[in-house]
This record gives sequence, structure tokens and C-alpha cells, in this order.
Amino acid sequence: MARLLLVEDETALRRSMTKGLEEEGHEVLTAVSGDEAVLISTREPLDCIILDLLLPDGDGIELLRRLHQLNPHTCILIITAYATVENAVEAFKAGAFDYIVKPVIFADLLNKLDRLYQFRSLYFENQTLRRELARKEGLDDVIGSSDAGAHLLRTWVSGLS
Ligand code: CA
Repeated sequence: MARLLLVEDETALRRSMTKGLEEEGHEVLTAVSGDEAVLISTREPLDCIILDLLLPDGDGIELLRRLHQLNPHTCILIITAYATVENAVEAFKAGAFDYIVKPVIFADLLNKLDRLYQFRSLYFENQTLRRELARKEGLDDVIGSSDAGAHLLRTWVSGLS
């Protein structure tokens, strides 16, 4: 169904999430640290990264920002122990698509993944439509610079929730 990178240093949680996701048909790669996550994400094409913000090797938000910069088309779902408005805002600014709070409820994770894939397919559909439109009108330079497109994406996302 999709190719995921799960970044989680807690062995039991990582194993149970991997098992559950594989049973749902996902291909799951795993990393136990930020360094490993960065390495894998630069080598492997990924649809989604599920990232625990509390890892042994460094600041989770910094890692999130880095992963997002390296993989701008990969949706990142974060796992956090504490959900506060400040944390959420900081995480979204750094590139998170959505977040789940520990303890991880598996059904909740699956719902968020569904929403994320819906968004992704709409996003790529939108890119394709814009390319076609640009070709028709000879306006290739419009691609990637449209505020209207960004607005449309935001509208879609809010409609999905
Ligand atoms: Ca952790």
C-alpha cells in the first residue's frame, strides 16, 4: 500500500507498530535514531515518515526540520509524549503533517495515515492538473509559484479533517 519509515527507539513499541502496519499492507522500514533516519531517508523513496520526537540522539524538532528539507514530498507524522499548542505549532512549522500522542492508539494512527494518503493523492492530482493546464496555455512558469494552488491545498486539508 505504502512505504513508510518508522523512527522509534522504544523496541517494544517499534515492533508492535511495525507488525500492525505490515498487517495493514504497508511496507515498513525502521530506524532507532535520528542519524539512522536521515541516512535511510536520503537513500530510500518514502511515502511517509512516522517520527518519534523523543530520540536518544538530539532535538526532535531539529530532526523533523532536517527530514522535511531532505524529503519535501514525504508526509511526516510525529509521535509526541506531550501535546501542547506551542509544541504543535512548532512541529507544523518544522514540516509535520499531523501528530499522534503517546500512548499510541493504533486505530488512531491508521486514521491519520488514511487522511495523509488522501491528502497526498489530491496533492499529486493537483500538480498533474496544473501541469496540464500550463501546457495547454503555454504557461509553464506558473507551476510551483501559485498562491491559489497553496490556498486550494489548505482548503482540501481542512475539508479532510
Ligand atoms: Ca522515544
